[in-house]
Amino acid sequence: MSIKENLKHIKQQIGDRACLVAVSKTKPNEDILEAYEVGQRIFGENKVQELTSKYESLPKDIEWHMIGHLQTNKVKYIAPFVALIHGVDSEKLLKTIDKEGSKNNRKIPCLLQVHIAEEESKFGFSKEELLEMVNEGVLDNLSNVVIKGLMGMATYTDDEAQIRKEFASLSDLFQQLKNGVFAKNDDFTEISMGMSGDFLLAIEEGSTMVRVGSSIFGVRNYQK
Ligand SMILES: *Cc1c(COP(=O)(O)O)cnc(C)c1O
Repeated sequence: MSIKENLKHIKQQIGDRACLVAVSKTKPNEDILEAYEVGQRIFGENKVQELTSKYESLPKDIEWHMIGHLQTNKVKYIAPFVALIHGVDSEKLLKTIDKEGSKNNRKIPCLLQVHIAEEESKFGFSKEELLEMVNEGVLDNLSNVVIKGLMGMATYTDDEAQIRKEFASLSDLFQQLKNGVFAKNDDFTEISMGMSGDFLLAIEEGSTMVRVGSSIFGVRNYQK
């Protein structure tokens, strides 16, 4: 199937239950334009250099999401234009994003990444670390960052119950924060979870934003 057909099929499955981030990492501009032509405007990339060069060469009404691990020394390259940073996983990174936001005279939308998978390798705050940081009031002093919600990745497994449990734990944490420290914060609305293999499960467990790559653009030649 073509990119356009894949996209249409996925959008039908999602309906209006969640926002679709089309993950275009490693894919050429012509593939992105094919999705763009049928109305897709939100694209996700996981490498700063690739994100920046695609931003420069593609239509300016695209919303670019940084979904990968972000190093503090690279924040400056995406700070002027990035629409949402999904993988914020340290206080140091938050403070850097705040500083670069200030230099660019904008508030940069961010999601706090939480480690929900059993696997060791995935990035993210533990729940305890996140709650500690939030309760210490660290976020109160960041005037050029907008915390839009949470992001997480499930374990890479066929075990549906396991994946569901991990997604549910992110939703629980989101609700806990929403009822607590973020109660008066209208910006705190998003739970970014779900990829090609598990986005429907993720939506059932409360995802508001799914990040789908290979089901739209086909398998990637090199996995990064
Ligand atoms: C690559 C990537 C995705 C998309 O993965 P697919 O399985 O191709 O849909 C989603 N989220 C993150 C963080 C990624 O790096």
